Amino acid sequence: DDGKSKRETPRYDHLVRKHPCFNGEAHVKFGRIHLPVSPACNIQCRYCRRGYNKWEQRPGVSRGVLTPEEALLTLERALELCPEITVAGIAGPGDTLATDHALEAFRLIHRRYPQIINCLSTNGLLLAEKAEQIAQAGVVTLTVTVNAIDPVIAAQIYEEVRFDGKRQQGEAAAAHLIRAQLAGIEAAARLGLSVKVNVVLIPGINDGHIGEVARVTDEAGASNFNIIPLIPQYEFQNHRPPDCQELQAAREAAETYLPVFRHCRHCRADACGIPGKGIDLAGQLYDRPMET
Ligand code: SF4
Ligand code: SF4
Repeated sequence: DDGKSKRETPRYDHLVRKHPCFNGEAHVKFGRIHLPVSPACNIQCRYCRRGYNKWEQRPGVSRGVLTPEEALLTLERALELCPEITVAGIAGPGDTLATDHALEAFRLIHRRYPQIINCLSTNGLLLAEKAEQIAQAGVVTLTVTVNAIDPVIAAQIYEEVRFDGKRQQGEAAAAHLIRAQLAGIEAAARLGLSVKVNVVLIPGINDGHIGEVARVTDEAGASNFNIIPLIPQYEFQNHRPPDCQELQAAREAAETYLPVFRHCRHCRADACGIPGKGIDLAGQLYDRPMET
């Protein structure tokens, strides 16, 4: 078994071609909106500080949090401003599976706009147990952030993982998260979803480990890989981000196993527009009162 048998031929190949972040060509043609509906997280990454403002250009930041109903209205308005939008993504600002808001928003969107590609980003902790519900809510593409598949390395990246009703730390907690992530990727791939793996490249911690992450997630059923350079903040505020050569080396290591997406812009949790054209309409979309 080379592991590939775990992966269904993605049911949604024709759709994925229209996803600006799963396909380099689509990146300049099609648009996506990130709807910030998920307030809470169930792990703590040492590089993550969620924020609410209009100016920081990075993941984990949004102007605020929308209810699922507001998310549907926001998508409606976004499609008026930018008919090229093919993807409605939920990427935070917390974890999309830590609360039910994201799945509820996707159900509403799928009912109203069945042609829209629903895209969910998660840390993967609850992915295996929610995979069926995710597919039923019309989600077609998934991004799972897997920063390490070795608990010794992962324990340096995750301050805590919450499960069994407790905050847990150290290598055992990291091992639990890794098992959950791989089982989640497998479950999602079996359901025919297209899975992209994100890894945050942290020099001195996981930079020698990227090929291994790609190898193991490929075996689990991922079909795409994306490397995000560390943005130093929170406990990692004194770490340095990778330089271009380190990023290049990591991409080459991953590429032995999985196609690497090279156009990622590290968008905010409320980004809206065509990422490959630098078109961002979030200001127009959000900086006026919501008409409900
Ligand atoms: Fe932040 Fe995402 Fe990590 Fe949660 S999983 S701590 S939201 S980076
Ligand atoms: Fe696409 Fe990267 Fe932006 Fe996500 S963060 S929407 S993958 S460009």
